[in-house]
Amino acid sequence: MIVTNTEDKGKILIKKLARAEQLGNQQVPTDFSLRPKLLKDLIGREKEKHILSLLIAATKKRWEKGDKAAADHVLVYGPPGLGKTTIAHILSNELGVTVKVTSGPAIERQADLIAILTNLSAGDVLFIDEIHRLRKPIEELLYPSMEDFQVDIMVGQGTASQSVRFTLPPFTLIGATTRIGLLSSPLRDRFGVLLHLDFYSTEELVLMLQRLAKLESTEISDDAFIEIAKRSRGTARIAVRLFKRVKEYLAVHGEGKLTREIASEALDLLGIDSLGLDKLDQIILRAMIEKYGGGPIGLKTLAAAVAEDEETLEVVYEPFLLRMGLIKRTPRGRVVTQLAYNHLGQTQ
Ligand code: ADP
Repeated sequence: MIVTNTEDKGKILIKKLARAEQLGNQQVPTDFSLRPKLLKDLIGREKEKHILSLLIAATKKRWEKGDKAAADHVLVYGPPGLGKTTIAHILSNELGVTVKVTSGPAIERQADLIAILTNLSAGDVLFIDEIHRLRKPIEELLYPSMEDFQVDIMVGQGTASQSVRFTLPPFTLIGATTRIGLLSSPLRDRFGVLLHLDFYSTEELVLMLQRLAKLESTEISDDAFIEIAKRSRGTARIAVRLFKRVKEYLAVHGEGKLTREIASEALDLLGIDSLGLDKLDQIILRAMIEKYGGGPIGLKTLAAAVAEDEETLEVVYEPFLLRMGLIKRTPRGRVVTQLAYNHLGQTQ
C-alpha cells in the first residue's frame, strides 16, 4: 500500500523557495513535480473546474451547517499524464482534508482496503489510481463502503467464522482510470461525478511550462516554449519531462538563453519529431505501412509486430495517433491515413 501526502512535500519546497529568496540565492531549487494546489492554478480544464468548484462549495456549505457528509465520489478518466492525480490533490486541498493515495494493484487483500478505509478521517479523500485493476472481491467490498460507509467482512474459518461490521468515516473516493471501458457498471454507477480528461492544446501546455519556468532564472524565449509544447503529445507530464531534458541540453551545449533552435536540437536528439511522435509512434506507423500495407490491422497483431504490450498501445499510443489523424479505427481494425504517409514521406 502506498500512502503519501505530497502537500507536505509542497510545503517543504515552498519553505525552501522562501529561504532561497531571503538569502538572495540565485540557485532556487526547481521541483518539476510541483503540482498546482488550487483550482485556480489548474491550467485549462474550464468545464472540470466549474464542476469541481460547485462540488467544493456545496460540501463546505454542508460542513458549516454541521452536516458531516463528504463530497460525492469522483471518477476521473483519460490517458496518462493529463492531471488525474493533480485533481485529487486539488480537491483535498480545497476542502482542507487529507488525501491518501493508493492504486488498484496495490490493494491485494480485503484487509488492505479495510485498513485504508478505517484510517481515514471524516471528509478525507481516498485516491485510487488504476481503479480498473482492482480485484473483484475488493471491488465488491468497495460498493457498500462507497454507498453506506459500512462494510461487513467474514473473519475466521468454517463454523468459527463470523461477520464483523466496520463503520467508516464518510469519505470521498476519487477513482482514476486510463481504461474506463474496463470498469464494471456497478462500480462506475457509484460515482456521482465523472470527469473525462482530454489532451491539452499547445497553448495550455505553453502556460504550464511558463508557470514552471517562473521558478528558475534561465531566460527562455516564447517560441522555445511553443516548440516543446507542440512536441508533447498534448500531455502535461510529457511537456514537463521534455522541458527538463531541453534544459539539460542547454546546460551542456547552450549559451545561457533557451531559444527555439536549442529546444529543437535537443528534441531532435531525443528522437521526437515535429509532430511530437516518438520512436515507438514512428515504429508503429512504419510497421502498419511496410508490413501490412497500411491496414486494417488488429491490436494484437500490431502489438506483436512492434514488440509492445497491447495495453500500452491502446492506452498511450493509439489515442494520440487517432487524435493527430494519423490512424483511423474501422470495424476491421486500425488503418493508416494519408496524413501519416505524407508525414513519413511514404507513398501509398
Ligand atoms: P495523471 O494522474 O493523469 O497521470 P498527473 O496529475 O500526475 O497526471 O499530471 C502530470 C503532471 O502534469 C503533473 O506534474 C501535474 O502537476 C501536471 N499537470 C497536469 N495537468 C495540469 C494542469 N491542468 N495545470 C497545471 N499542471 C498540470
